Order: sequence, then C-alpha cells, then structure tokens
Amino acid sequence: MDRFLQGRTALVTGSTSGIGLAIAEALSAAGARVAINGLGSAEQLEAALKRVTDAGSEARHFDADLRKPEQITGMLDAVQAWGEIDVLVNCAGIQHAAPLAEQPAQKWDDIIAINLSAAFHTMQHVLPGMGERGFGRVLNIASVHGLVASKNKAPYVASKFGIVGLSKVAALEYAAAGSRDSGGVTVNCVCPGWVETPLIEPQIQAHRNGGSRDDGVRALLEEKQPSQRMSLPEDIAAMVVWLCRRESHNVTGAAMPIDGAWTAQ
Ligand code: NAD
Repeated sequence: MDRFLQGRTALVTGSTSGIGLAIAEALSAAGARVAINGLGSAEQLEAALKRVTDAGSEARHFDADLRKPEQITGMLDAVQAWGEIDVLVNCAGIQHAAPLAEQPAQKWDDIIAINLSAAFHTMQHVLPGMGERGFGRVLNIASVHGLVASKNKAPYVASKFGIVGLSKVAALEYAAAGSRDSGGVTVNCVCPGWVETPLIEPQIQAHRNGGSRDDGVRALLEEKQPSQRMSLPEDIAAMVVWLCRRESHNVTGAAMPIDGAWTAQ
C-alpha cells in the first residue's frame, strides 16, 4: 500500500461502525494516524481501534456525542493536541424513516444535529489551519439523498442536501489556499446509494414482505439502484482515499455519487 499520508493526522467521525470504520482503516493503511469517534460499548470501541491500528498506523478513540456542540469542541481540542488535523471526514449519521407527518420532532433535531450541524462545527474549527498550512482534505459523507429525495426521509434528505450546500460554500472559500505542489484545501461530498451497513438494516427488514433478508435487499435495490448491487463500506473508503491524494487538488466542491446509476434516472 502507498503510504502517501504518512505524517498526516485524520479525524473520522462516526468511525466505530460501517462506512466510517472502513474509511478509518483505509486512511490508516495509507499512512495517516487516525482519530476515530463514535458510539459503542467498550468492546466495540476496542474492536474498532484494533481494526484501524492493524491496518498500519497509530489510532485513538476520541469521545463525543455529536448532538452536543460543547462535546464536539472538546473532541477537536483533544485531537488537535495530538496532531493538527489534515484530513477531516464527517461520516457520523443516523436515519429515521417515517412519513413527514409522523416524524417525531426529536428525530428531526437529532438528525440535523448529527448529519449536518456537527459537520459545520468540525469544519469551522479545522479549515482555517488547513488554509494556513496549504493542505487539507474535508470529506463529507452525504448520500444520494443529498442529490435527490425519497419519501419518508424528510429530516435525512434535508440534512444531506444541507451538507452538500455547506461543502460547496467551504470549497469556494478555500479554493485558492495552498498550491498544486502543497495539494491545496479541498472540500467534497461523497454520495453513496445503498451500502451494506447496520444503518440500513431496519429498511432491509421493512422490505422483506414475509421473505428472507436477501428478499429485503433485492426489493430495496429494485426500487432505486439500477446496478442491483449494494456497495461495500470499503468501496466508499477507496474514493475517500483517492480524494486525499495531492493530484486530486482540483477536485473540490463536488458531490460524487457512488450509486449504481440511482441519480442518473
Ligand atoms: P452506521 O450506523 O454503521 O455508522 C454510523 C456511525 O455514526 C457509528 O459510528 C455511530 O456510532 C456514529 N454516530 C451515530 N450517532 C452519533 C452521535 N450522536 N455521536 C457520535 N457518533 C454517532 O452507518 P453507516 O451506514 O456507516 O453511515 C455512515 C454515513 O454514511 C452516514 O452519514 C450515512 O448517512 C451515510 N450513508 C449511508 C448509506 C448506507 O446505505 N449505509 C448510504 C448513503 C449515505
């Protein structure tokens, strides 16, 4: 593996599970030391840390409930005391599928706080230093639901359209930072369709219609994703790693679908 991120520090929020954990592992394999964050039991946190360190670099877990801005600030201060953040991946996210009229107000608040506002707080804290150093990568894990809507996902779709807009503003503000040689400061969204992780399990179960789990997966894919294949978390991580390379310096302000042609329709 090309350890082109040697000497860099990355923070990946929501990296105790799913896509974030795969991204943390891939960045570790690429040489970055990785600050992981996310919820879970002591055993889950230990298992996540082991996977990330086994991938090749140092890693530590930094606690923060991302619904709480003061905990986000505490986490960022602690990570920055460990190393200036060169790569910021906002991956933490939650979902609650229900018709708009039945969405609990608390779900709206939590989804907007974790999926959108947390990224505002981390970016606000980290981008000025990236600008001064002339290198930085912000990767926001949005969704196809940052590009198109689906029924029953009002807060989620609102949060993901929001993070696509937030990322474009930040990309514009930092577009001229650094140089081609230093790699510049880029801000992008990655927009996955269906990815095999715990987040979508309730939706798979809801689509079983009395059949097997595979029937639930097939039904979800038939509805939206023309490739009829789910992505794996490591497929998303591979795109994130590429976006961290120096030669991606002019890829900024983009919202890259990895969606089996979902949004081509
Ligand atoms: P996941 O449930 O496997 O992981 C979510 C992570 O977020 C976990 O580490 C969890 O601990 C963390 N998290 C949740 N609430 C938190 C809080 N209050 N504070 C701190 N951390 C918190 O889900 P995933 O599928 O890996 O999702 C990761 C991201 O990818 C999300 O933003 C999601 O919207 C997005 N996404 C997922 C899919 C998919 O099909 N799985 C598709 C498109 C986008």
